[in-house]
Amino acid sequence: MRSPITDYLTEALDGVRDDDSGELAGYIPELASADPGRLAAVFATADGETYSAGDAEVAFTIQSISKPFVYALAIADRGLDAVLEKVGVEPSGDAFNELSLEDDTGRPLNPMINAGAIAAHTLAGKKGLDPAARLARIVDGLSAFVGRRLEVDEAVFSSEMETANRNLAFAYMLRSHDILEEDPVAVVEGYTRQCSLLVTTADLAVMAATLANRGVQPVTGEQVVPAPVVRQVLSVMSTCGMYDAAGDWATQVGIPAKSGVAGGLIGALPGQLGIATFSPRLDRHGNSVRGVSLFERFSTDMGMHLMEVS
Ligand code: GLN
Repeated sequence: MRSPITDYLTEALDGVRDDDSGELAGYIPELASADPGRLAAVFATADGETYSAGDAEVAFTIQSISKPFVYALAIADRGLDAVLEKVGVEPSGDAFNELSLEDDTGRPLNPMINAGAIAAHTLAGKKGLDPAARLARIVDGLSAFVGRRLEVDEAVFSSEMETANRNLAFAYMLRSHDILEEDPVAVVEGYTRQCSLLVTTADLAVMAATLANRGVQPVTGEQVVPAPVVRQVLSVMSTCGMYDAAGDWATQVGIPAKSGVAGGLIGALPGQLGIATFSPRLDRHGNSVRGVSLFERFSTDMGMHLMEVS
């Protein structure tokens, strides 16, 4: 049955449909062949309702949207202090694929850029897990956020590994600073598989709603990570989630968010709503062009900006 919210979402998609600006993520060959016309938006409320429009059930790879969730698992598994020892919380002001390490310690500035996410990947699960067991912990954990079993897109994984020289270079730098304590190649493979998990826009909205709902998955009722972990994650999303566009985003949209280079984008409005959009063409920051426009509209229409007094 259609609701006014579904109608609103459909109209919002129609409003951005003709914008064909931006480019597909060309540095991952498999993503460069995605259908650029795909478009979806989903709202998932903290009490378990979902409203979808467009290609909400089309699967694509999660890419960097995995980063806040793996950061959450790392803090839940190892404790905040252990994670802060290896990854900072300062916005870098640089692109996601810049190295951006602290001068004195070699810590990546934050867990939303690639270098920080590669380090955070190794902190998920109990200390001492082998790479396969750690990846299993990550797949289980992200699946719990979604409420269904996630799978890796092996074609996207292999394609990204063929061109992963930059992430491999980051991992070797992190190894030289003892931020990583293991084989850099195996770490980048694990991180790239994490980024290659297949999700739909509907899945992403529920993942975001779990963050909005203090770590409790609104449909299954599972406490996926403790509430204080979510506060940390949402804070880092709000300052670093949109990379070198984080300031524009904070002023114009004003909710914690994270983008991925396959075209996904999530936002979490604490206590209320998870939002996800999908549109594969990216701006120069690597954020979805039509996704950003949709969020700007949602924020304005519904007074979602967290700094706005209603
Ligand atoms: N797997 C991608 C990478 O490491 C993720 C980047 C992104 O989505 N911004 O480059």
